[in-house]
Amino acid sequence: MIKHKFLIFLFLSVCLHLNACMPADSPSYSEETLAATVTEDDDAIDLIIEGDYVVTMDDDGNVIAHGALAIDGGLIIAMGTAADINARFTANGHLRGDKRIVMPGLINGHSHAAMTLLRGVADDLGLLDWLTNYIFPAELQFVDAEFVRIGTELACWEMIRGGTTTFVDMYYYPDVIARVVESCGMRALVSATVIDQRSPDAENAADSLKKGLAFVDNWKGRNERIMPIFGPHSNYTLNAEQLAATRAAANDAGIPISIHMSESPYELEYSKQAYGMTSIEMFESIGFLDGPTIGAHVVWPTEAEIGILAERKVGVIHNPTSNMKIASGIAPVTDMLNAGVLVGLGTDGAASNNDLDMWEEMRLAAFLQKVDKMDPEVLSASTVLRMATSGGAAAIGLGDKIGTLAVGMRADVIQVSFDDVHFVPTYDVISHLVYVADEQDVASVTVDGKLLMRDGEFLTIDTERVAKEAVELAGRIQAALAERNQ
Ligand SMILES: [Zn+2]
Repeated sequence: MIKHKFLIFLFLSVCLHLNACMPADSPSYSEETLAATVTEDDDAIDLIIEGDYVVTMDDDGNVIAHGALAIDGGLIIAMGTAADINARFTANGHLRGDKRIVMPGLINGHSHAAMTLLRGVADDLGLLDWLTNYIFPAELQFVDAEFVRIGTELACWEMIRGGTTTFVDMYYYPDVIARVVESCGMRALVSATVIDQRSPDAENAADSLKKGLAFVDNWKGRNERIMPIFGPHSNYTLNAEQLAATRAAANDAGIPISIHMSESPYELEYSKQAYGMTSIEMFESIGFLDGPTIGAHVVWPTEAEIGILAERKVGVIHNPTSNMKIASGIAPVTDMLNAGVLVGLGTDGAASNNDLDMWEEMRLAAFLQKVDKMDPEVLSASTVLRMATSGGAAAIGLGDKIGTLAVGMRADVIQVSFDDVHFVPTYDVISHLVYVADEQDVASVTVDGKLLMRDGEFLTIDTERVAKEAVELAGRIQAALAERNQ
């Protein structure tokens, strides 16, 4: 196992030096091929990543000038100045640091990855109209295992390009999602969706929960990068009993839950009518928050509910673009942060965003709070950057593994290039990362010590094949929609 991983690194290293080999159809590498092309160096570590700035995102906000990380066995084993690290270690892979910022990979705390294939199918509508009249019917008609595979590959490609290394997904056919994540090399919490209506992969709540249990059994402990979790959709698509049953199943399996929570005025009204209380109070009243919970959106919490979120250590995922586009509202992010709630950032699905760009989420999260409170000081660049890295990691329960660059953390690391004109001049690196940087500035992406993108070249995804498959499938969707609308 160790040898296999080691050989993959060597293979990548050889690839990168030759600048020639792009993995073809299969993202997994044959060991025989590797053995023929590499020589081993048992004393060398896997990788050194250098940067003119190493933004650690640790509690003290340390930034190391002309720094480097030493990476071996998927972990950061040392960090310091580049001169120091290069003197101490020889590595099989080496990323140079000239005009590069090194930082933790971004964490997308709420996505529906395969919805990249429904990007732009229905825009400019409110949440309920959009969901019930467009998205749910389109999903029933088009979403199958093949759709999910292609859509998730497309999403992983886009997320890797933009420096996202971890995502929390909620969609159908979770086994297919997990297999795509396994092959593209990212890290993910993959939710089995539980919903009480006919969906692409289940008939009702009981059926989706049963299938979810099988998925969790199948994937738990199988791959360090992939955590199977439950994704009950919401308290307007599941009743109290079904929500409680899902919580019980999650607690039995020792896994978290990801759920849409207090997202829209509709949910608020529904909750008051159906349960006689607001949404988060309802979750609390049935013991649903009694276990690790990731709440997506949380736009309409009352003050008392913010207290519940803090006490129950619910990880809140703020999705500013989706909240603005669907006009769900402005989440009280600063109030939640001030109350000690763990808050991360997410994109939501590409059908309500319409991309998976975490840089844009950072920028909009900051701007939205500033204009909402009419106070430019209310949410700073460094706080927002924390929400996309260390804070996001804490919100999804992985704060001890990722989100910060420190010895002993998993090596989920990106390099951002500051070659582009919009980095000239750069006075403050943190300000630039939040208010200027784009997806296209990401130069390299490493997850668990393995390179997924180097200098914009994708090493684990056959992008040409994925693009072709996505265009073909979108053509079939477009034709069917045109027929339906005639
Ligand atoms: Zn969502």
